[in-house]
Amino acid sequence: MVEKRMNELIELIKRANYEYYVLDNPTISDQEYDRYMQELIRLENDNPSLVVDNSPTKLIGGKVIDQFSKVIHQIPMLSLGNVFNESEIIAFDERIKKEVPNPRYVCELKIDGLAVSLIYKDGQLVKGVTRGDGVVGEDITHNVVTVKTIPKQLKEKIDIEVRGEIYMSKKVFNKINEERSKENLALLANPRNAAAGSIRQLDSKVAAKRDLDCFVYHMPEATKYNINSHYETIKYMEKMGLTVNPNIKKVEDINGVLEFVSYWSLNRESLPYEIDGIVIKVDDINDQIKLGYTVKYPKWATAYKFKATEVTTKIKDIIFTIGRTGQVTPNAVLEPVRVAGSVVSKATLHNEDYVNERDIKINDIVVVRKAGDVIPEVVSVVKERRDGHEIDFKMIDKCPICDSKLIRKENMSAYYCINENCDAKRQEGLIHFVSRNAMNIEGFGDRIIEDFYNLGYLKTIDDFYNLHLYKEKLMELEGFGEKSIGNLLENIENSKNNSLEKLLFALGIRHVGSKTAKVLAAHYKNIDELSTATFDELINIKDIGEVIARSVVNYFHDEENSKLINKLKAHNLNMNYLGQTKTNNELLVNKTFVITGTLESMTRDEISDLIILNGGNVTNTVSKKTDALIVGSNPGSKYEKAKELNVTILNEFEFRNLIKK
Ligand code: NAD
Repeated sequence: MVEKRMNELIELIKRANYEYYVLDNPTISDQEYDRYMQELIRLENDNPSLVVDNSPTKLIGGKVIDQFSKVIHQIPMLSLGNVFNESEIIAFDERIKKEVPNPRYVCELKIDGLAVSLIYKDGQLVKGVTRGDGVVGEDITHNVVTVKTIPKQLKEKIDIEVRGEIYMSKKVFNKINEERSKENLALLANPRNAAAGSIRQLDSKVAAKRDLDCFVYHMPEATKYNINSHYETIKYMEKMGLTVNPNIKKVEDINGVLEFVSYWSLNRESLPYEIDGIVIKVDDINDQIKLGYTVKYPKWATAYKFKATEVTTKIKDIIFTIGRTGQVTPNAVLEPVRVAGSVVSKATLHNEDYVNERDIKINDIVVVRKAGDVIPEVVSVVKERRDGHEIDFKMIDKCPICDSKLIRKENMSAYYCINENCDAKRQEGLIHFVSRNAMNIEGFGDRIIEDFYNLGYLKTIDDFYNLHLYKEKLMELEGFGEKSIGNLLENIENSKNNSLEKLLFALGIRHVGSKTAKVLAAHYKNIDELSTATFDELINIKDIGEVIARSVVNYFHDEENSKLINKLKAHNLNMNYLGQTKTNNELLVNKTFVITGTLESMTRDEISDLIILNGGNVTNTVSKKTDALIVGSNPGSKYEKAKELNVTILNEFEFRNLIKK
């Protein structure tokens, strides 16, 4: 089984390498490629006996094309290791520190182009070579001389090899595509492949017309020139008349690296060329030598790859879930894929209309998006990659759990299971009750709730508070012991002290989200006051509209709900608003924050809670009244608006520092 998957991955990667490096025409996204590569690396680590000699995990780049003369690199041109999130950056630093106690780093933008080696003799450019397979590259001197930012003559008559990245600016790329569109020619896929495709041509007229550029970032034999640090290398190359990127920064420790990563994750769109990450390099060349190399990359450097908020993957199946309101949602079961920093294996397809409008089928390759903390969704189908194995989507007409007929309400896209006793609905209600923004009872995964439900221990919300009666029996269940059940019961007991707003949200009153629950709790202070509130009274409260007001009144007039609340009271649950916890952090008190983009170290909910706990407010829209916008990567229009209104913008790193103060 494992061997079969490994072979499958090797084939996939080999084909992608050929399309990307040789044809300059990839058919899968970089993220999909990286995912296959990471999976293969993991399988090879777990099964060393199955690793084959020519595994792509050990090889660099692609095959060298015969039409070009071949050049052997005197010093191999390696690739770079990858890290994908903050904790992996920190782990990289920890590995480095085992060899070098106080590493200083240089951070650079990872230019999305193709690597080139430039050889100068007596200060004259004599050769330009692609990276090829790292050992042998292709002679592309005839094209390299057409690149204006590569000087033919250096400022001093030295013999030197420098390495860098040839790239196409966004402006040139857009201009070429505009022209191609007018001439009805196929559009270039992206600036990286456009640059690679132009430079790896036999006819130099193509490259000359394409207006390419180059930044240099490495000198393999810097010590020969009495240079001791990478940063000095950069300055030296600049002095020789070569073009280096202006956004290179020397930092004292890993915190400086994280700050640089945060800044460019946010601001990369403003650059006139594309970057696909940040390269982190140990600065001291003696330290670099000490750290050494693997066959594929230097151990003293790594590339942080930006998170994609949109990736492609395959739909393996479509399943249906029932929410606590009875709404039926089709969900795509995906080949697991990393998107916006986390691995997703399920994405919502919303409803029947959504699927049909986009013509989504099982086995389709689809684009999946996850922006911020939003649930992953399937956005579109990559129809070019259909191979005839697709299976049409069919909406169900009966609840997959209780078999009752589903109802589609007038003017609505969703189908509902209206059976009040449907097990799925009841289980969802229980899952909601323990969730973080609700009663926040740790230790209850969906699976445990499902098992306890099926065993009869948990049917309604108040059953949570009777679970201690079955302690002995629960401890006998597979996967549980005295300690885990003890913890679970302790967490349930502690939840009794929650402030009213958590309970209100946990009850699952229709249209009462966690924010509305806070408004109601703060206004009425205890549940008895709220339960007798009238519709007119409710709609006079700021932020409470008619729909919510009606739903609240209906909820408290329902006899079953009153019984439930009485039972919870009998279990001694707190029914009062406890107010906001006062902390000493005056900096956030009465300040209004908005959060946007994909955050790295905390979820939006966690940041919101922190702000509220420190006396601040969180709203959804940026206005002049906003004190600060907290931004993650790939921010949307809120970021533009904040800039326009001169609102303070803090990245995650800066916000965390503020909290620390
Ligand atoms: P890489 O792109 O992950 O990193 C190494 C390269 O980064 C270097 O060789 C250099 O060219 C470049 N680079 C840019 N700026 C740099 C800087 N400041 N300092 C040092 N190097 C810098 O590794 P790779 O081996 O070139 O390519 C692998 C990657 O290419 C994959 O992770 C994937 O993203 C992409 N790829 C995609 C496909 C596909 O089908 N979509 C196929 C093969 C490879």
